[in-house]
Amino acid sequence: MADSDQIAIATAEGCWLTTTTGQRLFDGVASLWCNVHGHRHPKMNAAIREQLDRVAHITTLGMSADITDLLAERLVAITPGDLSHVFFSSDGSSGVEAALKMALQYWHQRAAATGATSPSPKTRYLALSSAYHGDTTGAVSLGGIKYFHQLFAPIVFTPVRGPLPCSYRLPEGVRPETACDHYADEIETLLKQHHGELAAVVMEPLVQGAAGLITHPAGLLARVRELCDRYEVLMIVDEVATGFGRTGRMFACDHEGVTPDILCLGKGITGGYLPMAATVARPHVYEAFLGDSSERKQLYHGHTFGGNPLAAAAAIASLDLFAETQLVASIDRKAEVLRSSLDRIANHPHVGDMRGRGLMVGIELVEDRDSKTPFPSERLLGRKVCERATELGAWVRPLGDVVVMIPPLVANDEELQFLGSTVSRAIEEVLAELG
Ligand SMILES: *Cc1c(COP(=O)(O)O)cnc(C)c1O
Repeated sequence: MADSDQIAIATAEGCWLTTTTGQRLFDGVASLWCNVHGHRHPKMNAAIREQLDRVAHITTLGMSADITDLLAERLVAITPGDLSHVFFSSDGSSGVEAALKMALQYWHQRAAATGATSPSPKTRYLALSSAYHGDTTGAVSLGGIKYFHQLFAPIVFTPVRGPLPCSYRLPEGVRPETACDHYADEIETLLKQHHGELAAVVMEPLVQGAAGLITHPAGLLARVRELCDRYEVLMIVDEVATGFGRTGRMFACDHEGVTPDILCLGKGITGGYLPMAATVARPHVYEAFLGDSSERKQLYHGHTFGGNPLAAAAAIASLDLFAETQLVASIDRKAEVLRSSLDRIANHPHVGDMRGRGLMVGIELVEDRDSKTPFPSERLLGRKVCERATELGAWVRPLGDVVVMIPPLVANDEELQFLGSTVSRAIEEVLAELG
């Protein structure tokens, strides 16, 4: 807080925020990667108001709300493959926690049912390097980002740590064409060694957001799916950031025809209006928990506000808008508009990489482009660029020296060009001051 920027927002409309001092800012990170249809969308607002006239909150423990049941059906209809059972919670981290417990208890109950070694030894998880799955303790255990996670090592569990499947900095001897095989082989080596103790592989699909929009080689997600099947380990895919159109498909999994055993959704689920997350499971997972109460097979896990009806109403309105506006089909073209607006800095000597998928774009600033050498982190260049962009009217936040652009999906061409040209100008100005 000692050097906080002290921006406070008074109102917002569409993709624009107005501060208490009257500055208008383009919402370049979609209010933390979750706004979809813009702020104060009339249909979103109306759906929430209408639900408010029915019921604001009831519990989903021992009962449910009609609107929440409807949302579950709508999610089942659009999520990949046979994902068909929905557990609601109130934020992405909690959605991941629920998935972790489901996976462990799944193997426990399967072992009991099949007479395999009981209790099951499958109590660990494989997570990727630089993973980010949220800030609660279980999610932090999976996490691999030094500044966020390292300090808490004494109070968390230790996952089996996989590679960072980065497409920009490839290991010695690995070429872009062989990168997918290389990383898949590394994951397979770990699965060979650890599958007997692994409940699940947990990963963000295609793009590791908080790691700095690290973009995986195409095909890796499908390879991990095959490996999880071969080594009998559940696959948990965390689409909290990538879900709901962000990457150009409704879900990132759709790019590679992958159906995870458990899918975690959050952020964009309510269009970015109200807190909600969902953990969606396939039938085999659900059925392992099915039995009358005396069997004590249920997942003893529930959150007070899980499935909140106002959030459910917002989520349904958001899905209706996705359908009405064919938003997902427009994302590839919009991404192209944003990318072209960055052309003028593509060859800048300190722009190392421009990457991402769909409307999830990161620019990594480096000291030396050829060797991909980062700037010393204490120079805070990413932060300085974002501060300059904010002065120029586009609110963006860095991840280290990666300047992140994750606008609301509804942003139009002109707004995307404004975002791209403002960030380009901020980069040029801040880096010119370096001399
Ligand atoms: C944001 C995020 C989370 C955590 O969601 P919260 O709602 O902040 O708890 C988990 N996983 C990924 C991939 C995320 O980007």
